Amino acid sequence: MTTPVDSFAELGLSDGLLQALAEIGYETPSPIQAQCIPVLLDGRDLIGMAQTGTGKTAAFALPLLERIDVKVARPQALVLTPTRELAIQVAEALQKYARHLPGFHVLPIYGGQSYTIQLKQLARGAHVIVGTPGRVMDHLERKTLKLDDLQTLILDEADEMLRMGFIDDVEWILEHTPEQHQTALFSATMPEPIRRVAQKYLVEPREIKIKSATTTVEAIRQVYWQVSGLHKLDALTRILEVEEDFDAAIIFVRTKTATVELADKLAARGYAAAALNGDLNQQMRERVIDQLKSGALDIVIATDVAARGIDVPRISHVVNYDIPYDTEAYVHRIGRTGRAGRAGNAILFVAPREVRMLRTIERATRQPIAPLTLPSRADVTNKRVADFKEKVAGVLNAEGLDFFANIVSQIAEEQNVGAEEIAAALALMAQEGKPLQVAGEDPPPRPLRDDRRPPAFADRDERRPRFGERPERPAFADRGADRPHTGERPRREERPSRPAPAGEMVRYRIDVGRDHGVEVRDIVGAIANEAGLDSRFIGRIGLYDESSTVELPAGMPAEAASALKRTRIRGVPINLRPDNGRPAGAGGERPRFGGDDRPRRKKPGTT
Ligand code: AMP
Repeated sequence: MTTPVDSFAELGLSDGLLQALAEIGYETPSPIQAQCIPVLLDGRDLIGMAQTGTGKTAAFALPLLERIDVKVARPQALVLTPTRELAIQVAEALQKYARHLPGFHVLPIYGGQSYTIQLKQLARGAHVIVGTPGRVMDHLERKTLKLDDLQTLILDEADEMLRMGFIDDVEWILEHTPEQHQTALFSATMPEPIRRVAQKYLVEPREIKIKSATTTVEAIRQVYWQVSGLHKLDALTRILEVEEDFDAAIIFVRTKTATVELADKLAARGYAAAALNGDLNQQMRERVIDQLKSGALDIVIATDVAARGIDVPRISHVVNYDIPYDTEAYVHRIGRTGRAGRAGNAILFVAPREVRMLRTIERATRQPIAPLTLPSRADVTNKRVADFKEKVAGVLNAEGLDFFANIVSQIAEEQNVGAEEIAAALALMAQEGKPLQVAGEDPPPRPLRDDRRPPAFADRDERRPRFGERPERPAFADRGADRPHTGERPRREERPSRPAPAGEMVRYRIDVGRDHGVEVRDIVGAIANEAGLDSRFIGRIGLYDESSTVELPAGMPAEAASALKRTRIRGVPINLRPDNGRPAGAGGERPRFGGDDRPRRKKPGTT
């Protein structure tokens, strides 16, 4: 990895932030941070081409915090995000970095949340607002959010906002912010409409893109596991237990804190493991590496910087426990294995949000990374049993067995039991604290998918039951994701058909239609975000002149229903209500796609 900057202090951040970063355990800036922070601290506009996992949040959050005057209890920065999940995540990150900024207040605002609460929170005053475009626009229109003191505006995941149909809202917001402020736009890709927005609203922006040099890493077997259903630590130990040619491993995590925590947890599970991070002095670092070389340690948990240049031939495995920031770091990490002509194995853990990074790595290394089937409980048990048998077989030829054989005979006689039972009792004793059988459940198999969208009627509170079942068919939001967006409405026949979600659906009517300039994607975007409903659960949509129909899963929670009642699309309240089945309008307005008002799939005007 060639991070040009080794410490956050070099970037010119103030002490409070540096202290927070040290406490959180960030060792060095990620490449996107190293490049963006100085530009943003300089007050310049910026276009950052970066995706989730690169550390982009801190790249804009830290400079943003530098400019906040806590004494002014009004919004000085606004971050727009495509989803409520991301809004919450960014707000949490800001709060975390601002731990030594007393009185600092960040407020996430998003659709689906009660207005009463939001109004109260807004009235109390927040320094930073992080919100989804629809709701931010709404508050600006109602004048419940004022941006007179705005200094910084961040557009996070701009391409996602475009994909979800929020680009007009974003532009509206950009039009309604004061002239003088810094704007930074982050996007994984740069489709034309995003470029256009950047050209129109950013002033001489610096464009920052993390190079992903293509490198080949042929000698190394590369696999990934998509994190789901099992804690990463449990998955890790299962994998390490059954890996055929395991000798030693380096496990990469992002923070110093994580190196220590994981080392402790692995040690508690019986592994010879130690942490390697920037807090160790040169002597301690060398000691850890020597121990790994000699076999006194089998696993070292390291940060990128601490593992630079490690050359230990017995490292059979590299585990990317936390995904690296970029492909360069990935290539550097996995280069720690497969040394001195030996076989190497690289295992990558990929959270659902990080799937894009996985694909970037595959492209840059010009090699597919195969999915790893997580060993089942039975696999691990079988492996343990096989190892146990091998161990016993090894001892069968050892000296001194006669003495114990004699004792076994005595026990057999005294207890009136067979040798088999005695052997079983001894095995139990020998394995005390090291059970051969694996406890717990196997997670259900899950196909890889880009899970960036919120679950059905998602809520901040994960414990609440969700509305709608996961359909097996492809998600609506996946369609056309890579189709270049021209800003024009797609021709009818180009519109992909929309598979109906499984489960019972109810048809609703909304008071916006073609005459309001509304398109299907506007409806999908607004409903998905305001109701916290994954767009794949939204059924067929019929576009009429003055109104539209939309199918939603039966059993909508009251909260979602009331949020949708108040939702606006293109500034028009949609007034969502169950559809009575008759066309709207006195004259019996007809849908464009056919003679009746029941939208049919694959007909023009429906999706
Ligand atoms: P992001 O790409 O902003 O979603 O960040 C991905 C993850 O990396 C988050 O969990 C951050 O806490 C973490 N992270 C960001 N910057 C650093 C850093 N410099 N050192 C360690 N971890 C970081």
